[in-house]
Order: sequence, then structure tokens, then C-alpha cells
Amino acid sequence: MIQITMPLNFLGTVYREIRQALIDMAEMFDLLEQPAEIEDKPGAGALGVPRGEIAFDNVRFGYDAARPILKGISFTAEAGKTVAIVGPSGSGKSTIGRLLFRFYDVDGGALRIDGQDLRDVTQKSVHAQIGVVPQDTVLFNDTIYYNIAYGRPDATRAEIEDAARAARIHEFVKSLPEGYETAVGERGLKLSGGEKQRVGIARTLLKNPPILLLDEATSALDTQTERDIQVSLREMSRGRTVLTIAHRLSTVADADLIIVLEAGVIVERGTHEELLAARGRYHAMWHRQAAEREKEELVESEI
Ligand code: ATP
Repeated sequence: MIQITMPLNFLGTVYREIRQALIDMAEMFDLLEQPAEIEDKPGAGALGVPRGEIAFDNVRFGYDAARPILKGISFTAEAGKTVAIVGPSGSGKSTIGRLLFRFYDVDGGALRIDGQDLRDVTQKSVHAQIGVVPQDTVLFNDTIYYNIAYGRPDATRAEIEDAARAARIHEFVKSLPEGYETAVGERGLKLSGGEKQRVGIARTLLKNPPILLLDEATSALDTQTERDIQVSLREMSRGRTVLTIAHRLSTVADADLIIVLEAGVIVERGTHEELLAARGRYHAMWHRQAAEREKEELVESEI
């Protein structure tokens, strides 16, 4: 009997690990366009995160040697603080997220979490400590319960419902005839963009990682839903170090530090107030996007 169950258990573990790897890959799809082929050093240890400080120290990186993308990036996200990366399309924002998740290793300089160079620890341990809330949460063709529980398969029903409450999806789930047993995904109930993102938030809350990487929604959500999601994200950020890849400025105003990136170089940094007062690039971007937002809200209120 033991001889039969052991290999089955082993296969179960392998199967779960493969599914976890697939979901990591799929969830990072927006951040990651092609899986990297980085290898752990022989005997590499696990990343420990007693505090959660992230430090980019003169980081240089290019997807190929001929074309540098990040050209000497230095900033520190102190433990428990939120740092937002903003900048034009193609400036390298998502690339910073991919390096933090160690999908790639830096070409020059160093990236450290609590003083440990990410090249010296296992990729798996980095993934275990960082929760990713992507633009588009990937759902399995399974129940809502399963989809949330995926964040931590040994979680109890009470913990899963608590995570759903914190992500503000619990009431919606309870209102469905089959509640948490409702099948979702391609072959089940189609969830809206906002509902899917809440499932993703609940899943990440359940994983309870000390570091969060947020890839903010670009457009799919209407203004009200975006605001509601922002409230959930802000609550989730409490007590964690957060790196936000922001495609819109409306969501970054209360970050502890805003980094403005342009063509792989940090051109401005500071808080929202400091950057507005500086009347530089952030100031110009803010006023341009505020005008666009007003237009959108006008259109929404007319619908
Ligand atoms: P956006 O706001 O449009 O998402 P971004 O600031 O996040 O843009 P990145 O996705 O970091 O920009 O891309 C920075 C540059 O790196 C771009 O010029 C892009 O073409 C290039 N790039 C991104 N991913 C790859 C890849 N897998 N291989 C080669 N080049 C890539």
C-alpha cells in the first residue's frame, strides 16, 4: 500500500508544482512575454524576508545585449512602503517587475531583497515571497472556491471566505445560486474584469506574501470599479512592501515614492506633491491624464 501511495503522492506534488508554475507564468503574462531561462546557482538557498526591503542598485538590463532597456536604475522600496513606477509605454516599467520576480537576472548592478542578491537565492523562493496581482487574473475551469483556494491549498473555508470578504467578492459569490461551488472560467460562469481581479486579490491575500507586485489595469474596468478595486488593493498593501507598475497616474497619488521612468532611466522621483510642485514630466503627465479622465467620467455619466 505504501509502495503505491508514495509514488502517487509524489506525482500529486509534481502535478501541483507544474500547475503552480503554469499559473505563475500565466498570471505574469502581461509582465512576461517570454519565459526566461535563468538557473539557480548550485546550492542556492531560499530567500528570507524578515523585513521586506527591495533595493535596485545601479541595475542594468537588456533582453539582448545589443539593446539595453534599463540603464542604471537605483531606488529603494523600504519595508512596508509602496513604490509606484510610472512612465511612457515602452520605458521599462514591466521589465522592472519581471526582474523583481526573477524571471531574468540583471546584467549589471544588483537587485537585493533584505540584503540578499536575487542571483544567490532560488527562483522558487522568490516566487513564494512575492504576490502578483496581474492586470488579468487567470481562472481555472473549476469552482470559485478552488480558484481562491489556489493561493494556499491548505486554507480552511473560513480563511477563504475571509479573503473573499477582504477582496469584496464574498457578497457577490453568496448571491450566486451555487455560491462558492459555482463553476467559473471558460466552461463556467464568465466573470467581469473587476470580479476576476477580485478573485485574484483574494487568492493573493490567502497566500499572504510580504511583498506585492501590482500590475495595474490599463483600461478594462470602468471608473467606479477601478476605484473599488483600488480600495481593496490599498487594504491589501497595508504592512507589505509594494511595487506598483502603474499605467495610469490616478492610482499612484498616495504611493510613498513615485519613480518616473523614461527610456530606461529614472528622470524624476518623489511623492505626488513633490513631483507636482517640481512642474516637470510627472506634472505634465498628471494634467494630461486628469483631462482624459474627466472626459471619460462625463461619457460614463451620460450612459
Ligand atoms: P507599457 O506601459 O506599454 O506596458 P513598459 O514601460 O512596461 O510599457 P516594458 O514592457 O518594460 O515597457 O518594455 C520595455 C522595452 O523592452 C520595450 O521596448 C519592449 O519592446 C522591450 N521588451 C519587452 N519585453 C521584451 C522581450 N521579451 N524581448 C525583447 N524585448 C522586450
